[in-house]
Amino acid sequence: MRLFIGVDFPSMVVDELCSLQNKIRSLVRGGRFPARDNLHLTLHFLGETPESRIDDIRQVLTVVASRQASFQVSVGDRLGYFGSPNPVRVVWVGMKGDVSALSVLQAGVAQAMLELGFPVEERAYKPHITLARDAFFLQGDGILKNGWLDFPVPPFPSMRIEQFALIASEISEGRRRYRPVATFELAGFR
Ligand code: ATP
Ligand code: MG
Repeated sequence: MRLFIGVDFPSMVVDELCSLQNKIRSLVRGGRFPARDNLHLTLHFLGETPESRIDDIRQVLTVVASRQASFQVSVGDRLGYFGSPNPVRVVWVGMKGDVSALSVLQAGVAQAMLELGFPVEERAYKPHITLARDAFFLQGDGILKNGWLDFPVPPFPSMRIEQFALIASEISEGRRRYRPVATFELAGFR
């Protein structure tokens, strides 16, 4: 099964992400837009994994979660893109607030997965929520600037991250669907 470890957001925040997504929709031609249910933050991508490994993964992630306290973040205030300017591969929004706690969590997860024998991503972790893929901006020269979009992001409410999840990424009826396999409460002391 195809697995990753990620964080979901409160529905109020997802609503705001959808409305931001709709604004992007109006600026582009083509593009693929992750469904509302799929808007999330990836901490670590495991890829194709035998089901028999789930117990071990669950065990080590429980330890990671027990060591870290919940923390406060919000969706960031700038849109960015990955890939060359037009079309762009990914349009994303980052995080602000206690991003250092987020990085500690991500590093803990990556270390735990390394100990289980999963490869570690070489690239530095860059927390991002993917809002669109393979999008051609109609006014690319005016909007796409050195990896950033010159386009305002409305303020997002602050949220407390209290858990993360092991998630199965599946295709059913031609649609990508994410199914939580296990959730882990951040149980450390604040
Ligand atoms: P699709 O690939 O069908 O467009 P998707 O990207 O949402 O859909 P997955 O490819 O299963 O679904 O990815 C699940 C999550 O893991 C997404 O957040 C994706 O960006 C991230 N991800 C996928 N591949 C990698 C990778 N090689 N390295 C880091 N993160 C990845
Ligand atoms: Mg993918």
